[in-house]
Amino acid sequence: MVETVDKPLAFQTKNLTKVYGEGNAAVHALRGVDLQIPSGEIVVLLGASGSGKSTLLNIVGGLDRATDGEVYFQDQCLSDLSNDKLTLYRRDHVGFVFQFYNLMPSLTAYENVELVTEIADNPMEPQTALSLVGLADRADHFPAQLSGGEQQRVAIARAIAKQPTVLFCDEPTGALDSKTGRVILKVLKDVNERLGATIMIVTHAASTAAMADRVIHFADGRIREIVKNENKLSPEEIEW
Ligand code: ADP
Ligand code: MG
Repeated sequence: MVETVDKPLAFQTKNLTKVYGEGNAAVHALRGVDLQIPSGEIVVLLGASGSGKSTLLNIVGGLDRATDGEVYFQDQCLSDLSNDKLTLYRRDHVGFVFQFYNLMPSLTAYENVELVTEIADNPMEPQTALSLVGLADRADHFPAQLSGGEQQRVAIARAIAKQPTVLFCDEPTGALDSKTGRVILKVLKDVNERLGATIMIVTHAASTAAMADRVIHFADGRIREIVKNENKLSPEEIEW
């Protein structure tokens, strides 16, 4: 389904295709995805396990490359970029948040965030990023001293400290209970409002869709439907 959007685009894809492996072992993870994501929106990508959600996120986020088709960040075609240029795109514009936090266990919360701010172009102070996720007073704690929800907030602080244009979240609440998941969604909404970052959240938890500007229903490597959400709920109002 091709939908035309009138606002400036954060990114778009044209006939995006991804095949893993070859011959009899080939897995068609993306089967021609045409997508337009307006700048500044919260977009939720919903679909069953194995439908290609992570594959799409990783290609748009510059972690992987498509087999065919194109992906654009603003006006820049990522498919044409050298590996070095793709790395710069990730470094300067992209934040990632994963299901299992991926923090360095031997570094404090502050140091985990600092890893990113040391190489970023225009970073905020690590302490500012930790304050934005409500963890200013836990800066000196190691991941093992933090709950799952707190670790995910550190991971979000790390992702936003570079002031990314786009924030990609792959199952960010997948390992958390509903109460903690709600806190995480609230933090993501704050990031969207305060930093103006475009946020794309991949999840199989349909309830998350209630807080999105736009919901993409994904099935078997294809977009099945895109729904604009006219009645956005706050994370506090979402029923789990
Ligand atoms: P989702 O995130 O929706 O669960 P994925 O994008 O992870 O789906 O996977 C889509 C399909 O591609 C699945 O069939 C999965 O097994 C396959 N796949 C994902 N990554 C790889 C890979 N690196 N090599 C081979 N197959 C893969
Ligand atoms: Mg996935």
